[in-house]
Amino acid sequence: MSTISRMQQELQLLEAHSNLRRLPEMTHSGRDVTVNGRRMLNLSSNDYLGLASDRKLREEFLRTLTPDTFLPTSSSSRLLTGNFTVYEELETELSHLFGTEAALIFNSGYHANTGILPAVSDTHTLILADKLVHASLIDGIRLSAAKCIRYRHNDLAQLERLLKEHHAAYRQIIIVTESIFSMDGDQADLQALAALKHRYGNVLLYVDEAHAFGVRGRHGLGCAEELGCIRDIDFLVGTFGKAAASVGAYIVCKRVIREYLVNRMRTLIFTTGLPPVNIAWTLFVVRRLADMQERREHLTHISRTLREILLAKGYACPSTSHIVPMIVGASADAVLHAEALQRHGFYALPVRPPTVPEGTSRIRFSLTAEIRKEEIEELGNKL
Ligand code: PMP
Repeated sequence: MSTISRMQQELQLLEAHSNLRRLPEMTHSGRDVTVNGRRMLNLSSNDYLGLASDRKLREEFLRTLTPDTFLPTSSSSRLLTGNFTVYEELETELSHLFGTEAALIFNSGYHANTGILPAVSDTHTLILADKLVHASLIDGIRLSAAKCIRYRHNDLAQLERLLKEHHAAYRQIIIVTESIFSMDGDQADLQALAALKHRYGNVLLYVDEAHAFGVRGRHGLGCAEELGCIRDIDFLVGTFGKAAASVGAYIVCKRVIREYLVNRMRTLIFTTGLPPVNIAWTLFVVRRLADMQERREHLTHISRTLREILLAKGYACPSTSHIVPMIVGASADAVLHAEALQRHGFYALPVRPPTVPEGTSRIRFSLTAEIRKEEIEELGNKL
């Protein structure tokens, strides 16, 4: 069979199982999206603080720009001629905010997660990763020379057994987790993970705060800030593409780790740095995150309301955050539920295998601080 026929056959199979993906055609207007001529409230955005749809904020930022500072490209890797001062300003700001020795910026969370683990691991490394970590982390693990064992989701007893069993056989062990998990919206117990790590001299902790940066903690720095364990985490990573309404990612870490990554991390070295104007926007937003407490509290409030509605309707809801899945099981059912909600003006999307395990297809509500409580209640009535 030719490659093209094989591809066609595979796509037909995906379609038959309601798992075929398409790039949706849509236009955006603030909190709303218009798809197929229907305007709907966007319940699938990662704009958790509502900053991406905040026109005033963009106007304020635009007033800071001139043709000399509107730099749309870095034209090079940061290691060559692409290292503009605004990068270092943002890194200094982040290391001050987190109270760490250093920070380093990457082009995206995907670049961070596929670059850091291969850079810091070798064949004498064991990675112990939560079963539900994001695809970008899995790809990073695959690209590394480390051996990897996945532990059951948030099962710290199993993790403890694995550490006990393997710590003597490896030069280093890296525990890899997210803080808020992207599909279930539940959380890792970062304090317990830190305590486990501290029992051994050769265990490091890697935490991806993609969904918590901006959203959690008194200054919006994430779950590690909220739980007082920033210093316990060796690789504390987050993204700017969600609550920070920008693009890119960071690690906050020890100076030596930063220097090592600059020398060894292929997804930093072999790519053009983000546009300086983009870094300037990220810095502009990051400097305002501490003042967004009201938005964080509102998001917490409406998320709790939605979780309570789902539980009252008999859905299993593992979430403890603003990512609220409604797990329906079969992919076809998830598609039907999403279509029904869209007819009622709510843009909710089905999430299906391989993004989530077979039989756990779901509607994934991803709430933002722009959504009003009445809208959540109305959504509840339509479920
Ligand atoms: N980590 C997690 C947990 C994510 O959910 C995502 C994106 N959805 C990423 C990393 C990738 O980040 P980015 O979109 O900045 O590449």
